[in-house]
Formats: sequence, C-alpha cells, structure tokens
Amino acid sequence: MLNRRTLFAATGTMLAAAAVGRPHIARAAAPFAQPALPYAEGALAPTISARTVALHFHKHHKGYFDKLNGLVPGTPYADLSLEEVIVRAKDQSEAAIFNNAGQAWNHNFYWAQFAGGPTPPAKALLEAAERDFGGIEPLKARMVEIGDGVFGTGWVWLVEDDGKLHVIGLADAGNPIAEGVTPVVGIDVWEHAYYLDWENRRAAHIKALLDERVNWAAAGERLGA
Ligand code: MN
Repeated sequence: MLNRRTLFAATGTMLAAAAVGRPHIARAAAPFAQPALPYAEGALAPTISARTVALHFHKHHKGYFDKLNGLVPGTPYADLSLEEVIVRAKDQSEAAIFNNAGQAWNHNFYWAQFAGGPTPPAKALLEAAERDFGGIEPLKARMVEIGDGVFGTGWVWLVEDDGKLHVIGLADAGNPIAEGVTPVVGIDVWEHAYYLDWENRRAAHIKALLDERVNWAAAGERLGA
C-alpha cells in the first residue's frame, strides 16, 4: 500500500477508505491520451504564469501519461479506463502504475476546474459549505490550512463523501477516486505547481487559486455525482 499516504479529515469522522460507488468511469484504454489544455497557457496569469503552465502541462503532466503508457502494455491494465487503472493499481499495490495514473488523472481534473472561471459558487455549494464549514470563506481557509500542511509533495482536495463536504490532504499521487470519494476541487501542492511564481509561499498560492481561478459554479455541479 501507499505508506506515505496521509489523510486529514476536516469535519470530524475519518473518511471511509473502503470502496464505494465510483461515478464517471469512462471507457478508454491504453494508450491513455492527455486531454488538451482547455485554455491558453497564459489564461491563468498572474496566479499561475504561462511559463509555469507550460512546464507543468507539457513536462510534468505529459510525463505521467508517457510513463503510464510505457508501463501498461501487455498487462491487465491496458484494457481498463484510467479510473479503473487507479483503483486496481491501488488494490494491487502497483506503485509505479498507481503513481503515474493517479497523477495523470489528478492533473486532468486540475486544469479542467479552472476552465470558465472564476465564478462564484451556486446555491447548493454555498449551502453545503455553510452546513459543513460555516461558509465558503471558512471552507477556503480550511483548504489553505490543509494544503499548506501537506508534508512534501501532494494535493489538497475538497471532496464529498456520504453527502458531506470534507477537505483532505493526500501525499504524492493521492487521488480521490482511489479514496472512493467525489472530487469537487483539487489543488496541486507539489513545488512544481507554484515555485516559479510564488517561491515558498504555498499558502498564498492556494488562497489565490481558490479566490481568483477556480470555477466554483462548475465545482458545485459535481455535488451529488
Ligand atoms: Mn503537478
């Protein structure tokens, strides 16, 4: 198993690690294709510079797809969807396949959540944030706190589990599909995501993305999925 995985439950009970229903299982198989960036490389500046987007998308994100596509031919993974690869690789403790598939998927999600943004959250997400965190601003503050607290490389995720919002920190390629929870927003806290633009100011970077770049209207549509 992934012994560096860390899990922080923000709202009390620990998230169940057991597999639950996993929506969005798209049929696709190897070779896995990196989706196109859904906007220009400069579209997220100055929160994320065009240079960081270019390096992150064309080197890091593409690299995970390239490595994954080098690992799966001739294995049972070759006929699975990317989501199915993640779940099976975790179950089978196939670290290299899990890490590259998880990161491929995580970055697909990461880029997509900024498309069409920034927008304010709609009523359902506002109400859920009020119920579980006391409001959208306390929810964002919790994401900054948990994201800043991830030791080394990883992600901070806003997820829904059993009808409740949670903020969790996951190390390395930690992935909400593998955790059996519904991803709502996911921020990459690997240094490659922010160091050129923000140097060591990880917390400020996370706050800026949440305030200035996330399409919260689209994020709210993932509730109840
Ligand atoms: Mn990254």
